[in-house]
Amino acid sequence: MRGLGEENVSRLIGIVGRENVLTQTKAIEDYAHDMADYESVPAAVVRPLTEGQVAEVVRLAAMTGFPLIARGAGSSLTGAAVIENGIIIDTRRMDRVLKVDTVNWYVHVQPGISLEDLNKELKPHGFFFPPDPASSYICTVGGAISEGSGGLRCVRYGTMKDWVLALRVVLPNGKAVKFGEALAKNRAGYDLVHLMVGSEGTLGVVTEAWLKIIPIPDVKTKRFMVTFGDWESAGEVISRLRSSRILPNLFEFLDKDNIHALNEKLEMSFDEAEATLLVDVEETQVPVAEEIFQECGAVKIIVARDEEQAEAFYQARAMAYVAIKTLATGIQVEDIVVPIDRLGEFLRFVKGVAAKYGIKIPVNGHAGDGNVHPTILYEREDQKSRETANAAFEEICRQAISMGGSVTGEHGVGMQKPKFLKEQLIAHDGEEALRLMKEIKAVFDRERIMNPGKYVEAA
Ligand SMILES: Cc1cc2nc3c(=O)[nH]c(=O)nc-3n(C[C@H](O)[C@H](O)[C@H](O)COP(=O)(O)OP(=O)(O)OC[C@H]3O[C@@H](n4cnc5c(N)ncnc54)[C@H](O)[C@@H]3O)c2cc1C
Repeated sequence: MRGLGEENVSRLIGIVGRENVLTQTKAIEDYAHDMADYESVPAAVVRPLTEGQVAEVVRLAAMTGFPLIARGAGSSLTGAAVIENGIIIDTRRMDRVLKVDTVNWYVHVQPGISLEDLNKELKPHGFFFPPDPASSYICTVGGAISEGSGGLRCVRYGTMKDWVLALRVVLPNGKAVKFGEALAKNRAGYDLVHLMVGSEGTLGVVTEAWLKIIPIPDVKTKRFMVTFGDWESAGEVISRLRSSRILPNLFEFLDKDNIHALNEKLEMSFDEAEATLLVDVEETQVPVAEEIFQECGAVKIIVARDEEQAEAFYQARAMAYVAIKTLATGIQVEDIVVPIDRLGEFLRFVKGVAAKYGIKIPVNGHAGDGNVHPTILYEREDQKSRETANAAFEEICRQAISMGGSVTGEHGVGMQKPKFLKEQLIAHDGEEALRLMKEIKAVFDRERIMNPGKYVEAA
């Protein structure tokens, strides 16, 4: 049966107030898909303000058996943020910074604040929170924790898992608990904090987080945009910068299709070279880096002349997905990780797959992490086109697994690739790990209400 029924809707209204319960088709439209257009229509959306309200909603779901998910901005690219005929808890009214501690170097926040707003609050204190998914302008702390998100600065600073100290969580049984401590060191017990990071909303609802922060660095850097006529040369630069012990603050790449889409759809004006690297290098290391760019056959080396141009280079990378998404009615974004010294080889493989199937697969990614985003374009209403895209997707995932890589570095699994999570774990000696993961899900969520049927459970 569709819908929660009048009695349950009244109960939700009793918990969060009439204006914070949405059930009408029009009102819940925005919640029926994520940003890669995975679709499932929820029965209701609730917008709580307190942890107590979250707990009451979760208890109602547990009692009635309706599935439930927490949702931030819905910027997930894997179907993790949608649910069929269930309850969505929109956390975005819970968006307060509760404490900035500049001695113990942490910030205590509610889950619904966006990463960009969090950094705006930290800036006057001279601190920042480094993980910066390209979606930072909308994505929430709760979503980024649950997805274990990475971003452009992660080459130097790591991903979300490196920055979470402690959490308050409402478990699927409705109990509110605290995991971890807001301390620089703590190893009391199993690490349940990091079990939550990357759990894709399947184990509980994050209601508060204590996140590490660090001072805004005052080391001077230069931002380069460097273009190449082929991927071999770009791959060589990546290897040589690393073996020269240069650790860039930002180290990204884009292919010709990405730059073309940015120029055409977002009115940018960058050179449309086969391969483009974006690199932030500390000033003392600039001469070595420039020598490497030249020796590896760079076509053009541009140093950002001021902050405005540096920001324009950054936006090219951050907005690439938005530009590419306009190129076709269907889009499948991949999130492969390969050993960094095999990045060039993998990029060539992806281009070969695109040629073999006669389709477009624009590629961008995080060069310093070996994290590649092949973006497979297809036509949604065309069955044949969907099948071709899927065949390309499967080849790309299998190649990554065979190279000792991973099918996801930051976007997660959701409903997009449980099959390949399983293939990867089996291929890499992780069969027993998968069994344990499934048991962990069952221990946390006996009623199977929290984002059920996805991720580990579906693998
Ligand atoms: C243009 C664009 C660029 C992107 N770039 C990157 C990138 O560079 N790096 C990257 O890693 N990802 C990227 N993403 C993917 C996505 O933005 C991230 O995964 C993001 O962190 C999700 O945050 P959100 O608030 O939108 O979460 P949602 O999409 O709303 O939810 C994602 C998952 O988190 C769960 N969740 C949300 N809030 C909570 C909570 N309080 N408690 C428990 N579970 C919760 C949901 O149930 C769901 O399973 C990008 C997406 C887009 C559209």
